[in-house]
Amino acid sequence: MQVRSNKVNDIIDYYYTELSAFYERTELEAIIKTVFEHYLGFNRNEISLRLNENVNQSDLLKVYDCCKELKAKKPIQYILKESWFYNFKFYVNEKVLIPRPETEELVTIIVKENTKADSFLDIGTGSGCIPVSLKCVLPNAHVSACDVDKDALLVARKNAELNNVEINFFETNILEELQWNRDIKGTYDVIISNPPYIKHSEAETLSEHVVNFEPHKALFVYGDDDIIFYKRIIDLCKHKLKNKGVLYFELNPLTAGLVHEYATRSNLFSTAELIMDMSGNTRFLKAIKLTG
Ligand code: GLN
Repeated sequence: MQVRSNKVNDIIDYYYTELSAFYERTELEAIIKTVFEHYLGFNRNEISLRLNENVNQSDLLKVYDCCKELKAKKPIQYILKESWFYNFKFYVNEKVLIPRPETEELVTIIVKENTKADSFLDIGTGSGCIPVSLKCVLPNAHVSACDVDKDALLVARKNAELNNVEINFFETNILEELQWNRDIKGTYDVIISNPPYIKHSEAETLSEHVVNFEPHKALFVYGDDDIIFYKRIIDLCKHKLKNKGVLYFELNPLTAGLVHEYATRSNLFSTAELIMDMSGNTRFLKAIKLTG
């Protein structure tokens, strides 16, 4: 089908006709607002007042191409190359995960509980959404972040620049002790991680938007041990987390219990507690290191 004319009303009709089978109505309404805002500079709430306006041919083409990509189930954030997280704007591409609302919840908890902390380290930073948001709201803190993936680090650095903050980014592999021991300098008050945590057996439960477009390296944990990243990060807290420092994880509810058990058995922490997210899933771990 073609768009009937350059009129706003016809473009909206076209979106509904093409995409209603793939998106819920409210989701589609939000997508249309976002598309009109991004490509045509419309204020989100004024679309209904401008239905009879015509858009120029080049803008029409952009909106048309966007619709084609949406139909192929590409997430809107990857099409527009932007995503909002914790009220800040982030650049995203298919090398990094789209920041999730659960991770926003984690940042909210960390900010509330650590207003006086001096140093933060985010492990497996991806888009850099965690450290950039932390530095934006806690400007006096020293914030570092690492990732094993060079392309993700390029995105993260771009996001620090976009949001005008300075973060110490570096590349390291958390599964290789020789590497992280060399690359992580000093000790931290707060260590955070949202590592890959989806088991391969869960892949079928994910939507096409996720499996076909988001980086598998960031989503899935490979091999026999589903909590390998969590274990190695807990181990490194022995050397890299200060006494009384705090470790925060985002978790997979299916393996949260195992991570909690490993943290408790490590004898590194005075307390280790599981925290629920807004949907009632066991989603975070908070562990406070012993005094020494
Ligand atoms: N830390 C990033 C985020 O929370 C990336 C997570 C990941 O790639 N597993 O979105």
